[in-house]
Amino acid sequence: MEDCIFCKIIKKEVPATVVFETDRVLAFMDIKPINPGHVLVIPKKHSEFISSMSEEDLKEIMSIGAKVDSALRKSGIKCSGVSFFLADGVDAGQEVPHVHLHVIPRFEEDGFGFKFPSGYETMPERSELVELSEKIKKVI
Ligand code: AMP
Ligand code: ZN
Repeated sequence: MEDCIFCKIIKKEVPATVVFETDRVLAFMDIKPINPGHVLVIPKKHSEFISSMSEEDLKEIMSIGAKVDSALRKSGIKCSGVSFFLADGVDAGQEVPHVHLHVIPRFEEDGFGFKFPSGYETMPERSELVELSEKIKKVI
């Protein structure tokens, strides 16, 4: 896509620091890392949402993500855990409209984490879980 910053990176019109590449996928350093060593894994074929990606690209994003995870742990970069994050849609926190899997090195007290909504501590009734699961099962 013409105006997409990640497509421009793939076409080498914008610089990026690449760590790994296949025919389908590019893994490169996030320009504004949450922790040092933060990598983004993207499909080379532009797709805004994961639902419009091919099965092959989806599998490759995850397998290259796992490869980066292992590399981070062996690299000497401060990393005693790894968080995977993928924001699918603006309301989920997606800023760049080209699918990207964040692979983020984590360590104790690194200051990063999720913010939970109020009421999170109260577990829903089983009936509510069943009702929600039925809605999903109907359309899956
Ligand atoms: P998200 O908020 O999940 O859409 O994440 C977008 C990510 O892309 C952020 O972590 C940005 O720092 C990163 N980013 C944006 N532009 C670039 C770029 N030119 N090179 C590397 N990372 C980028
Ligand atoms: Zn794109």
